[in-house]
Amino acid sequence: MNTPNIPVFDDVIAAAARIKGHAHRTPVMSSRTINDALGAEVFFKCENLQRMGAFKFRGAFNALSKFDETQRRAGVVTFSSGNHAQAIALSARLLGIPATIVMPHDAPAAKVAATRGYGGNVVIYDRYKEDREQIGRDLAEKHGLTLIPPYDHADVIAGQGTAALELFEEVGRLDALFTPLGGGGLLSGTALSTRTLAPRCKLYGVEPEAGNDGQRSFRSGSIVHIDTPKTIADGAQTQHLGNITFPIIRRDVDDILTATDAQLVECMRFFAERMKLIVEPTGCLGFAAARDMKGELQGKRVGIVISGGNVDIARFCSLLST
Ligand SMILES: *Cc1c(COP(=O)(O)O)cnc(C)c1O
Repeated sequence: MNTPNIPVFDDVIAAAARIKGHAHRTPVMSSRTINDALGAEVFFKCENLQRMGAFKFRGAFNALSKFDETQRRAGVVTFSSGNHAQAIALSARLLGIPATIVMPHDAPAAKVAATRGYGGNVVIYDRYKEDREQIGRDLAEKHGLTLIPPYDHADVIAGQGTAALELFEEVGRLDALFTPLGGGGLLSGTALSTRTLAPRCKLYGVEPEAGNDGQRSFRSGSIVHIDTPKTIADGAQTQHLGNITFPIIRRDVDDILTATDAQLVECMRFFAERMKLIVEPTGCLGFAAARDMKGELQGKRVGIVISGGNVDIARFCSLLST
């Protein structure tokens, strides 16, 4: 394995050039209702409208674009059942690189189908008996594949940082910025952009209350590991921050906040009814925390990253009908 290199803002700039013309420059939306309710000016960066439905395309495409000829020919491997799998499969197809995706035997059929639909070669493992990271590493070694993990990788982090870069380019000064937090790829990339472009902007990561390992890690100063948390925010069911993401978060982020599943459902309803946006539960984390902070945001300019919109419509309806 390469020694982990720590990405810097220049890597975000380079990533922006690599993904240009491949990733969407997603819209920034606003809502009068929300501005009035918070007494603030709120800008939503809509990564639910990104290709394959989440910001993860940015990091995956950036990482694969950097492969050399040998790596391209051998292919990429990753372990994920969620948006990162689809992001790798789609990026690999666009770049003509073979992709192997290690997914649990009980992954939703729709996700397996979507990953296969993008041309990914899906390897199924038993999540109760086997270790996906080990399987990924074994495949990488045996077939000379390059492993691109979902968040703890410099090129992935730099790619994820391009969403905030675009947001600052578009709206200028912000007083506060909220992003969802799982393993910290999005938040650490956002931090690189924020600390250079808006050093005084408050930056918050938001994770599910049931899985507040990030908050505990941030406050205690060392990475806390937890069991897979029970939450509807499946994109943030990570068990720990990364060795690369954590130091950046600790250095550059102002605080880590949490949101409950009930709050996420309320936000999903709001986005659908008022803004005509389909947002997955994890994508609502930033907005849920900002709503909760109300008073503190009076008169401020506030950015919120909506991180993704991949939710099965039947599930979307059943969540909203509870
Ligand atoms: C992966 C993901 C997250 C969490 O991102 P990390 O980089 O792991 O912190 C948040 N929202 C969505 C929609 C995701 O797919």
